[in-house]
Amino acid sequence: MIDYLFEKIEREQELNKEDLCRLLALENPQELETLYNMADKIRKKYVRDEVHLRGLIEFSNHCRNNCLYCGIRRDNTKLVRYRMDLDEIVDTAVLAQKLGYKTVVLQSGEDPCYTVDKLEYLIKSIKARADVAITLSIGERPREEYKRLYEAGADRFLMRFETSNRALYHKLHPDSSFDRRMESLKWLREIGYQVGSGTMVGLPGQTIADIAEDILKFKELDLDMVGVGPYICHNDTPLAGSANGDVEMTLKVIALTRIVTRDSHIPATTALATLRPADGREKALQCGANVVMPNTTPMKYRAHYALYPAKICINEKAEQCSACIHRRIFSIGRPVSRDYGHSLKRKISV
Ligand code: SF4
Repeated sequence: MIDYLFEKIEREQELNKEDLCRLLALENPQELETLYNMADKIRKKYVRDEVHLRGLIEFSNHCRNNCLYCGIRRDNTKLVRYRMDLDEIVDTAVLAQKLGYKTVVLQSGEDPCYTVDKLEYLIKSIKARADVAITLSIGERPREEYKRLYEAGADRFLMRFETSNRALYHKLHPDSSFDRRMESLKWLREIGYQVGSGTMVGLPGQTIADIAEDILKFKELDLDMVGVGPYICHNDTPLAGSANGDVEMTLKVIALTRIVTRDSHIPATTALATLRPADGREKALQCGANVVMPNTTPMKYRAHYALYPAKICINEKAEQCSACIHRRIFSIGRPVSRDYGHSLKRKISV
């Protein structure tokens, strides 16, 4: 049966939910190696060897929402909250460009303090001072605001749906709805953004069938970017005491996401590297991933952007993160891209 599935992958035939469930259940080391090698081959064919670096700027850890798994959720009173001012964010983006990053990812909790006017100013100021693509990761906003931010110069938008299981989605996200999230992703696409989304692997209550559905959803949404990381339990949340997601399962999901979506950009996530610091990013890059997001947030804020505990790279300066990431990428024989790393799915005018 597994040989039959490997043949299907080799012939680039579509995998259905049952196929994905069987492949996600693989545990035999040789079969896993075959799966990862196949994903790596497809990665090479569709997105080449270059690894794209996106400088991550976590500019505010305030959030109006209360997602059950998240360390910066509204009700976590133990967290020290911060907001970067606009000029500090622009200076950080300029530093990211100096480090060679061709994209900055502006990420925050859902923080209404950054009004659309302020964000427009921010995007225009960054574009005036740095030759970078801008990805926003700021959560749900009205359609009109997404449009204004796109017109101000934002290129991409990341918003994960975390799970395609509606009941689980609603349990984990008391302030959002699955339909609203899907509608937001649709708006972003219509407006012209390159759209990224993704999921968490190992969420309490998630099944293998749910994960198979997640992968099919990536394909259905025709995502330009797909981020997949393991769930990591934060003890200052209602899910305290739950088990972390599994690293091997996360690698299987990355591999199958590459096999199913072919030319999406797929990051080797920090969450994966947190659970496997020695070589988590390298492993992900060798089974389908082609993007890394080095942390460029100023040092004084990093520890406070605690989506989950024990996050790596909170004590290294941006320059040190850059050197470390370059070393890791070169160690597996891959080059670092020098272009913007726009979507390969559609024509992007630069
Ligand atoms: S996951 Fe995002 S929206 Fe939810 S609480 Fe955390 S930062 Fe806020």
